[in-house]
Amino acid sequence: MRIYLPEIKQHKGEPVNFQFAGKIPEHFSVSQCGEGHLSLEVAARSSGDKVIVSGALEATMDSECSRCLQPFKQSFKSDFQEAFTLVPGLSASDDPELLAAEAANQLTVAGDYLYLDEYLRQVFILAQVYNPLCKPDCKGICAGCGAELNISACRCKTEPEPDARLAKLKELEHGR
Ligand SMILES: [Zn+2]
Ligand SMILES: [Zn+2]
Repeated sequence: MRIYLPEIKQHKGEPVNFQFAGKIPEHFSVSQCGEGHLSLEVAARSSGDKVIVSGALEATMDSECSRCLQPFKQSFKSDFQEAFTLVPGLSASDDPELLAAEAANQLTVAGDYLYLDEYLRQVFILAQVYNPLCKPDCKGICAGCGAELNISACRCKTEPEPDARLAKLKELEHGR
């Protein structure tokens, strides 16, 4: 996504809105995520030598539960706001990729366009949950018997606890 700066400046501090909805761009992907949908709402306005970018990101993507390893759709969203400083001196003929990288690391921008791909990619990555769960109370997999505890019972303990048996014994003794 890129923002045409002369248009922003023309609005003299009034926000200009941009929207995006579609597949998660390939370069956003990290190993743990699969196909998914992304929607973005971005407002940009000029303020002195800065461009203030704010908005909301929402995504749904194929993930794997970190506890039970079952596939599920992970949803997350994040609000963001950032001030990009306009740096005079660089021209629009500079390599766009270089400008984008610069925008990401130093939050500066030059030329006629502000490139937001790298910035939005970072917002996207930070918004993700690192150990996603298919549901908050996912019971996972038993380390002992391998049972999927969401759908079947653990088979590790078919016998009652030793303590419980001891208590039973005591009960019997007292009853005598
Ligand atoms: Zn799970
Ligand atoms: Zn078990």
